[in-house]
Amino acid sequence: MRIKRLRLAGFKSFVDAADLRIEPGLTGIVGPNGCGKSNLLEALRWAMGENSPKSMRGAGMEDVIFAGTESRPRRDFAEVQILAEQTGGEEDEELEVVRRIERGAGSAYRINGRDVRAKDVALLFADAATGAHSPALVSQGRISAVIAAKPGERRQMLEEAAGISGLHVRRRDAEQRLRATEANLARLDEVIADQE
Ligand code: ATP
Repeated sequence: MRIKRLRLAGFKSFVDAADLRIEPGLTGIVGPNGCGKSNLLEALRWAMGENSPKSMRGAGMEDVIFAGTESRPRRDFAEVQILAEQTGGEEDEELEVVRRIERGAGSAYRINGRDVRAKDVALLFADAATGAHSPALVSQGRISAVIAAKPGERRQMLEEAAGISGLHVRRRDAEQRLRATEANLARLDEVIADQE
């Protein structure tokens, strides 16, 4: 997968719609302190399904919505769109992932215009060996975190890079369904025993 474009509106300091083209290769973001470099990386991770407000440097998820300044009123929603290209198949396929949050209404996700769950978005990116926690997104402090990582954390990074973390999610899902089915079967046995 190659991310080609990032569009933001009402996200943190990006109150007006902003459109960023991401060219092939390594992309670095430079600018003076406080200009919004980290906000851009956070927008990318947020649209990929990040669900920890703390890692977005906020107390609650609605803190990603433009909070207003002395001269501009706050916004009621934030939206981030990722335009990507799915490579590796027979034909390259365009992919549009949108996350939107409204005050009091929470987050909603769309993939190519279709409403989906947060989990679908996380799986889509995990299968493409990327995602909200991908080591390919190098934020401030990330390099020292990689150096100081415990073996388990390092393994997680390698698994993400290898594109197999989606398999763990599916395994957890399957195990949960299995447990629910076992509980249903046990309940059914009880009902049958009561009837006899
Ligand atoms: P540095 O180089 O110092 O790390 P940076 O370029 O990474 O800075 P960011 O941390 O991305 O900058 O942006 C910080 C700015 O974003 C601050 O001015 C802060 O007020 C603004 N900001 C963060 N959240 C919101 C919000 N919800 N509404 C409006 N502005 C916000």
